[in-house]
Amino acid sequence: MKAFISLSFCLLFCNLNLTYSQLHSNDLQITNIANEGYLLQSSTKKILIDALFSDGYGVFSVPPKEVTTDIMNAKAPFDNIDMLLLTHYHKDHCDPVLINEYLSKYKNIPFVTNKPSIVFIDGNCFGFIAKKKQFVVITPEANQSISQTINNIPVKVFGLKHLSFYRDSVDLEETMLNYSFLIELDGIKIFHSGDIQKNAFQDYLARNKKWTDSIDVAFLYFGLIESGESDLDYILNTLHPKYIVMTHVIPKEMEKWFVITEQLKKKFPNILLFRNSMDSQTINITNIAK
Ligand SMILES: [Zn+2]
Repeated sequence: MKAFISLSFCLLFCNLNLTYSQLHSNDLQITNIANEGYLLQSSTKKILIDALFSDGYGVFSVPPKEVTTDIMNAKAPFDNIDMLLLTHYHKDHCDPVLINEYLSKYKNIPFVTNKPSIVFIDGNCFGFIAKKKQFVVITPEANQSISQTINNIPVKVFGLKHLSFYRDSVDLEETMLNYSFLIELDGIKIFHSGDIQKNAFQDYLARNKKWTDSIDVAFLYFGLIESGESDLDYILNTLHPKYIVMTHVIPKEMEKWFVITEQLKKKFPNILLFRNSMDSQTINITNIAK
C-alpha cells in the first residue's frame, strides 16, 4: 500500500512537472530549434521565433523532422505557445507550408511578422491571406521602429537592412529588409537580430542617434561578432546586453565558433552557443533591465 501511495505520488508529481513550468520569475529558458529558431519560455509566457522552416540551402542547420512534428502537434515543450514570430521570409527561417498549416491548427496563436513575409507566404500558399485575423503585421521603414503590445507581450520591431551578399558588385540582398525584434517576456527584454551585420546597427544609430532600448538577452547573428573582441566591444557598448546568444552558426564551422566563444567569454562570460536542436538552457536574469 505504502509503495502504491508513493508510486501514485510520484506519478502525480512527475505529471505536475510536465504540466507546469518550473521557471521562476526572471528565468528564461532557451531551447534551440535550429539556425536562428528558438523556443523562449519565461515564467508565464512561451514564444516561437524563426522556428518553422525545413530548408537550410544545403549550408545552414535545419530542425530534425521529429522536432518539427512536435512543434506542429503542440507536443510539450511546444504546447501553450503565445506567439509565433518571423524575422524575414528566407527559407532558412520560413517554410510557408508549415506556417500556413500551423496557423490553421492553432487559430488563437498570433503570427507576428512583416508585410514582405506575408506576401511571400501568400504567394506560396494561395489563400493564406484568409487567416489575416491571426496576423500582426508590423513593417517599419528601414532604420525605424514600431512598438506594439500583443497578448500582453510588448514587442518592438526594427526595420534593419538584411546582411549583404555581393556578386559582380551587386548586393543580392539589396531589397531585403530584415525585421529585428525586441520582445518582453515577464519583464525580460529579449532582442533577436535576425540576419544583420554591424552596418545595420550603424545605419539605425545614424538616424536615431543612440540605442535607447534596454536588453537582457541578445540573440545575435554570428557575423556581428565576426572579427572577435572589437566587434564584441561594439555590441557591449551599444546594446549593453546581459547575455549574448550566438545564432546562425553553420554546422561546418560550429567547432571553430565554440573555440571563438570560449575566448570571448574571458571578456564577457555570458555568451551562449547551442550545438544541437533541442539543447536547452535556463538563465536567470538578475537586475532585469529597466
Ligand atoms: Zn536571411
